[in-house]
Amino acid sequence: MTETLLKGFREFCADAYDGKSSLMGRLVEEGQRPEYFIISCIDSRSNPGTIFRPAPGTFIAYKAMGAIVRPYQQGTALAAALQFALHHVNVRKIILLGHTRCGAINALVDKVDDPDIAEFIDVAQTALSKAKAQCGPDADREELLHRIEEQLVTLSLENLKTYPSVAPLLEDESLEIVPWLFELETGTLKKFEPETKSFVPVPGQAEHKMYRRKAART
Ligand SMILES: [Zn+2]
Repeated sequence: MTETLLKGFREFCADAYDGKSSLMGRLVEEGQRPEYFIISCIDSRSNPGTIFRPAPGTFIAYKAMGAIVRPYQQGTALAAALQFALHHVNVRKIILLGHTRCGAINALVDKVDDPDIAEFIDVAQTALSKAKAQCGPDADREELLHRIEEQLVTLSLENLKTYPSVAPLLEDESLEIVPWLFELETGTLKKFEPETKSFVPVPGQAEHKMYRRKAART
């Protein structure tokens, strides 16, 4: 049933429509001015609408399996969304949000036998090859998966730069792209640092209890 969703919706409306701020009222009357464009995975645990606790109007969302950004192609959902966000709404910060324990990465490593998924994630083969080269032949599965999680974010970052809506704004330094990796097991947000080519925790985070998966990953 949909009761879980409707309960949340009622709470949201009571706050955003009838609360002190009447935030939705302002957003309807004055229009949206979101600060971010967030590209994230479809995974239910890495939903930016949940993990960042954003107020309505904070960001424009785009989701794809693995938060994978394919190279530019005219007329795709992402090309249109970026064009709208960057050139019609004037968003100037893109958050590229990968996450650990990602089903898309499992599918890539296990060569999933599902044409729709396989074809979409195929573009990430280079991330897999680079991760394998990084790990060497003796690496265990966990280490390989971890490397792919990182490689996938940097691959998507490079592909993002091929979009005509993005490239000129990067050139004149009016657009910032923030590559993040959300570590589900520890509740840690890591940022890719191009200088060192490594992911480091975003400053100011507390340490949390660490969780490990009991069975196979999805
Ligand atoms: Zn995922």
